[in-house]
Amino acid sequence: MVHDPARLGFETRAIHAGQKPDPRTGAVIVPIYQTSTYAQDGVGATREGDYEYSRTANPTRTALEEALAALESGKHALAYASGMAASDAVLRATLRPGDHLVLGNDVYGGTFRLIDKVLTSWGISYDVAHLSDVDDVRSAIRPETKLVWCETPTNPLLGIADIAALAETAHVAGAKLVVDNTFATPYLQNPLALGADVVLHSTTKYLGGHSDVVGGAVVTDDDELREQLFFLRNASGAVPGAFDAWLTLRGLKTLGVRMERHCDNAERIVEMLVDHPKVGTVYYPGLSGHPGHEVAAKQMRRFGGMVSFTHVDGEQAALDAAAGTELFILAESLGGIESLIEHPGRMTHASVAGSLLQVPAELLRLSVGIEDVRDLIADLSAALG
Ligand SMILES: *Cc1c(COP(=O)(O)O)cnc(C)c1O
Repeated sequence: MVHDPARLGFETRAIHAGQKPDPRTGAVIVPIYQTSTYAQDGVGATREGDYEYSRTANPTRTALEEALAALESGKHALAYASGMAASDAVLRATLRPGDHLVLGNDVYGGTFRLIDKVLTSWGISYDVAHLSDVDDVRSAIRPETKLVWCETPTNPLLGIADIAALAETAHVAGAKLVVDNTFATPYLQNPLALGADVVLHSTTKYLGGHSDVVGGAVVTDDDELREQLFFLRNASGAVPGAFDAWLTLRGLKTLGVRMERHCDNAERIVEMLVDHPKVGTVYYPGLSGHPGHEVAAKQMRRFGGMVSFTHVDGEQAALDAAAGTELFILAESLGGIESLIEHPGRMTHASVAGSLLQVPAELLRLSVGIEDVRDLIADLSAALG
């Protein structure tokens, strides 16, 4: 077959996987099936696609799921109402009271909150490890460890974990490896191909890519896990609506071109920051001095659009710089076409102050957008003074 989806390039899959023209009308773009229920031809006789109720399945969502699976080169994808709903589903499908999981010491704050404040009350325990150090992970694993939960690059310090090495370590211990691939996106990194069992996304970020929708996704090759996730999602109801699924599908068609531009712009901004007198440490896995650079170069196509750095004059100067940009909008979240700046210590990471996940007070995080990079550099230079 000429169009064997697995043989098509990334951008082709993004535009065509799960997105054939509508058979009835020829509509080129998958419609927003804004319906809760579906007529049956007789009791229990559903029509094409087997749709009966939109909590269970909806054709716009199905199209999004087929595209997401194709982009991660996975067998199954499930879309969720948010990244946290996707994380919650993976945790509840794989863990039972008495089970244990290992997390990165700079895991996404919302994931940490869910595990630390919700799952522990259901008898699940966890340990925190430096995921960039496989020996540290190995020593955190116990007989009852069922999951290793990994982000790479991490937020906001852009730490890098070796996915293939972590997968091997987890599998030797009889645990599964989950990779939250939100920062890298399937364009830059494919964890399933490196041995991960589950890939998770906050599609709110780069996949949607336009800061106009909240969503999540899970991709896996594991048939049994897919059945458990499907059952759990139908039972608990954390589904995205048809319009949100459509917006996400619209966003991911351009993921490849957007990521190239995010990476180009981030590289230019990193060059500027490295030479800037008001900048201390620059955190970017593309820098040859970054401790994870070699691993990142091995498992990522490029190094992404997220950049963090410290201000040499301390916290107040960092806060002033964050408030002083015009094009870089002061806001949480990331991965949209517009550039954002934030102060992790007071914003995204305020809830982890005093814990193992605490970040430097003089740290700033950039989500570099796809604007003209000369304007971005001028804006940032002016704010740094
Ligand atoms: C934003 C984010 C999440 C949570 O996703 P939501 O869509 O906000 O629920 C999880 N992991 C990472 C790495 C994120 O950046």
